[in-house]
Amino acid sequence: MMKITILGSGTSQGVPVIGCNCDVCKSTDMRDKRLRTSILIQTEQTTICVDAGPDFRQQMLRENVQHLDAILITHHHKDHIGGLDDVRSFNFLQNISMPIYAAPVAQEEIKREYSYAFVDKSQLYPGAPTYNLIDIKDHKPIVINELTIEPIPLSHLHMLCYAFRIGNFAYVTDFNTMSDESFERLKGVEYLIIEALRHEKHYSHISLPEAIEIAQRLNVKKAWFTHVSHSMGRAVDVNKTLPQNMMLAYDGLQITVENN
Ligand SMILES: [Zn+2]
Ligand SMILES: [Zn+2]
Ligand SMILES: [Zn+2]
Repeated sequence: MMKITILGSGTSQGVPVIGCNCDVCKSTDMRDKRLRTSILIQTEQTTICVDAGPDFRQQMLRENVQHLDAILITHHHKDHIGGLDDVRSFNFLQNISMPIYAAPVAQEEIKREYSYAFVDKSQLYPGAPTYNLIDIKDHKPIVINELTIEPIPLSHLHMLCYAFRIGNFAYVTDFNTMSDESFERLKGVEYLIIEALRHEKHYSHISLPEAIEIAQRLNVKKAWFTHVSHSMGRAVDVNKTLPQNMMLAYDGLQITVENN
């Protein structure tokens, strides 16, 4: 059994958006408050998270995460890597460099962004975060304790982004095109978290109608939509329009995946 927690379900700016007075940004419904997109995956033995955006610290505190075995990076946009400095707490607590699984191209960006963590030992500030960067390669399963995770490539405009499949569960965010091969590799997934930015088409993300179509073609038992923009509308209104087995994800939502 796996427990998935939605750490954040918002697009890159989060919801509410700074300075916006729309109905969604003014909503008092907690389901309309979205930190940057990320999930926590927990089993009895293992805790990992997918992405560490600018809200990583707040998300770890909210969910009272005391131990983290690894972080998987989907891609190197700031809303997915902007919180990596805050792995320092886990560095101290666990006395290890944090294993970060990322595509080589994403690792280059992490090294640029956090250059102070990659200097010579003699130059390293004692409080700097420490990372153990590990390659994600297509068709090479990631094994973390008892979990085997299949990375599946997606196209996010010009950027490579990885979806992650664990048995009958998959997490698929930040893409506008999915190859037929990647779609084939998602077949058999029963529980799907997939991005849906807004109603209208977008150049680097899929829209709600496109996300529904993928979930229906995969014939999933249940789908949750994440990486949601304020222009989607209020959760309470949007959920009424969705197929019965689908809903907008919200921050703090917990999903139990059985029969994995
Ligand atoms: Zn994003
Ligand atoms: Zn707004
Ligand atoms: Zn992105």
